[in-house]
Amino acid sequence: MTSNEIRKAFLDYFESKQHHIVPSAPMVIKNDPTLMFTNAGMNQFKDIFLGNQQRQWPRATDSQKCLRVSGKHNDLEEVGHDTYHHTMFEMLGNWSFGDYFKKEAIAYGWEFLTEVMKIRKDWLYVTVFGGDEKEGLGMDTEAYDFWKEHISEDRILRGSKKDNFWEMGDQGPCGPCSEIHVDIRPDEEKAKVPGRDLVNKDNPQVIEIWNLVFMQFNRKADGSLEPLKAKHIDTGMGFERLCMVMQGKRSNYDTDVFQPLIQELARKAGKVYGQEEEADVAMRVCADHLRAVSFSIADGQLPSNVKAGYVIRRILRRAVRYGYTFLGFNEPFMNTLVPTLVGQMGHQFPELQKQQELIQRIILEEEQAFLRTLAGGIKRFNDYVESGKGKVGSGKTIDGAFAFELFDTYGFPIDLTQLMASEKGWTVDMEGFQRGLAEQKERSRGAAKVESDDWVELMPGVEEEFIGYDNLEADVRIARYRHVKAKDKEFYQLVFDRTPFYGESGGQAGDTGELRVESGKWRIKNTKKENGLIVHIVDTLPDELTASFHAVVDADKRQATACNHSATHLMHYALRQVLGEHVEQKGSSVDSERLRFDFSHFAKMSQEEIRDVERRVNAMIRQCQPLEEHRAMPIAEAQKLGAMALFGEKYGDKVRVVKYGPSVEFCGGTHVQNTGMIGSFRIVSEGAVAAGMRRIEAITAQAATDYADRQQEMIMALNDMFKGTKDLSASIAKLQEENTALKATVESLQKEKAAGIAKALAAKLETSPTLVERMDSDVNALKDAVMALRNDHPDMALVLGSVKDGKPALLIVLGQNRVDAGLNAGQMVRTLGKEIQGGGGGQPHFATAGGKNPDGLDKALAVAKELLG
Ligand code: ATP
Ligand code: MG
Repeated sequence: MTSNEIRKAFLDYFESKQHHIVPSAPMVIKNDPTLMFTNAGMNQFKDIFLGNQQRQWPRATDSQKCLRVSGKHNDLEEVGHDTYHHTMFEMLGNWSFGDYFKKEAIAYGWEFLTEVMKIRKDWLYVTVFGGDEKEGLGMDTEAYDFWKEHISEDRILRGSKKDNFWEMGDQGPCGPCSEIHVDIRPDEEKAKVPGRDLVNKDNPQVIEIWNLVFMQFNRKADGSLEPLKAKHIDTGMGFERLCMVMQGKRSNYDTDVFQPLIQELARKAGKVYGQEEEADVAMRVCADHLRAVSFSIADGQLPSNVKAGYVIRRILRRAVRYGYTFLGFNEPFMNTLVPTLVGQMGHQFPELQKQQELIQRIILEEEQAFLRTLAGGIKRFNDYVESGKGKVGSGKTIDGAFAFELFDTYGFPIDLTQLMASEKGWTVDMEGFQRGLAEQKERSRGAAKVESDDWVELMPGVEEEFIGYDNLEADVRIARYRHVKAKDKEFYQLVFDRTPFYGESGGQAGDTGELRVESGKWRIKNTKKENGLIVHIVDTLPDELTASFHAVVDADKRQATACNHSATHLMHYALRQVLGEHVEQKGSSVDSERLRFDFSHFAKMSQEEIRDVERRVNAMIRQCQPLEEHRAMPIAEAQKLGAMALFGEKYGDKVRVVKYGPSVEFCGGTHVQNTGMIGSFRIVSEGAVAAGMRRIEAITAQAATDYADRQQEMIMALNDMFKGTKDLSASIAKLQEENTALKATVESLQKEKAAGIAKALAAKLETSPTLVERMDSDVNALKDAVMALRNDHPDMALVLGSVKDGKPALLIVLGQNRVDAGLNAGQMVRTLGKEIQGGGGGQPHFATAGGKNPDGLDKALAVAKELLG
């Protein structure tokens, strides 16, 4: 079976068991402060498990793109070195939301593997949770008994909390789990060591393929467990591992999922895969990381210097570095593999296909930049070794802190530093390196640390309703609240039974406002959307929490934000008209002051194009297009209207559609009732964010008018300066021309003057070779002229001082005989410089100094006279 057939068989099987097939959520997560990337199939259903959101179907199945490179699940350092962990992989899953539980989950899993996939039963082992004294939990006998119906008891193993109790994070839904392991070793080996002894022992041929999680507890902030009201099933099977088993391979990389990439890499490197371990590891790393990076970019996460972007950058750099070191790629190469990846996966994942060019350009740009950094790092390394700096006693040891710097700044993994060190007969202080690493981890953990108490429920079971599309104020009650401590800030989060406040999401800033009762009011500083909840942030809690409150949104701010958001839609439409259909939204951020919009486009916009976009948007504003809003439209119908789904966004079956004339978008934001309310639109900047990606910042309404006013005032002021000229730019150009001509004249006059002074000085030198003088013109301008005097006056010692624009300066020139006699202008100028509160330097025959104290100049010259006798 091909991998595509295997994926389809899985989804078909669960569809036949009444599971709704849902698409993979984006791999890059927005709106969740605790997680950057999807690391398990359950992430997109977290809100349902938490009870924040109603289920849409009782059963679902999917193949989810996952990335395990940060946080609780981080497999990065394994990848390439072993044959069954990836950074990005697909997780096949089936889900029950308060519907079936352990019995059916076990029966389905077993039937799919042994009947549909026809994997031999005597290759399989399963585990159940063996209990944990500290948690006060016994063995999962339920699961054990259900497994007994399918598999002999000597194949059911008991596991510890580490392997058999699944938790999403420090808090939240969790429960015991059952893993299914498969033993793919040859029969002779099986005869020697029974598979059950190798389960969960990191043997690459006795591996876990599926984990069935029985969600039945909620982990509270104090660490205790409470039973969940509704019990859920969450399963995850590694798709690439299943393919390996089904295709009779011993490594995920030997399946059709990876072979096209591996073969292409081998061809480009002039190697054969499977011949040298180091090159094989490198090819696996590159093939794996290419997928991770390409899918992230397709989902809208570009490599960058911060957070999720930095994680992606590090993955790409790891690949480039392996390619550089072990495959001999000195030039960018990863980007050239993108077409192979797209050829193979683009069908299943259209986001790859449609953005192939963008992905390729961005990877190329990253590679070029990193190869330069790499060269810089290698130079740093060589300098370090040559300077013998790290020498500890007679040994040659690279300081751990330096190895960490290479790792952190230049992206050198420690094994590369070790390799380079050993090539020179050095070793690396690994303890010091590990210390640096641990400290960094501690720092980033500290920085991101958020401690949330458990929610206090005041209205259990109430689901929050957003009424902010139609209301800016409403009577509300507090449904739940909690105390949060983050980075030396403390505040409270409130959830209401219903709210007019818009929670920050979809790039639109959250509302601010007030919560009022007769006797007092509380400022709502911000509103956020977290795990499907609209959360209001306040500094202090109201005294009477169960009162009825009047919640009031800051109306002016909301209105200004709405103008910017609606204008963003109009501009998106205009950009596609002016630049072409390849323009796609890549990021949008809207608040009450401005809008910012990132989009794919491969060249700088010309002034003409920018004006054209502005004109079109302003025309749509003047047309006074009324808002046409559909709050819950089936997604297919919305697409028929012309709305475009954005890559990297997650949509339900029903979507909200916002339409102004020809502009149609999926959008949950708050908008103006009529485009006329936007008033005016101005683009204030256009620039590059990355290869193939542009950013526009623009303003609307009052801000746009103010902007135009400021420009107008500036022009009027200029006009005044030019005494009401008819053509301001011609007048300025003329002025610039005159200025250039004047400068040239001044320069030649200065030269003449300097020559004159030099001539006078020469005359004086004839009588006395030592000359200390204060003059009224800038000494620095005299440099060339007085240096020329040295030729005819080998005995000269000339010290000049001047004050220009309140700043004192000194200049010393010595003839060759004086230098030979031991006088040093550089040393002398430092001594004199002290008198003018300054410093300077130079050579033995010539030196200058500048200072801050003009009153000290005469003293400096007096000292000079003394020194020269
Ligand atoms: P392992 O112990 O092998 O790392 P895990 O316990 O981390 O697995 P789960 O978190 O239970 O795995 O994930 C469910 C399934 O996803 C696993 O059974 C496995 O088949 C697959 N899987 C997990 N991590 C990876 C990975 N890094 N690459 C590919 N598949 C993976
Ligand atoms: Mg793991």
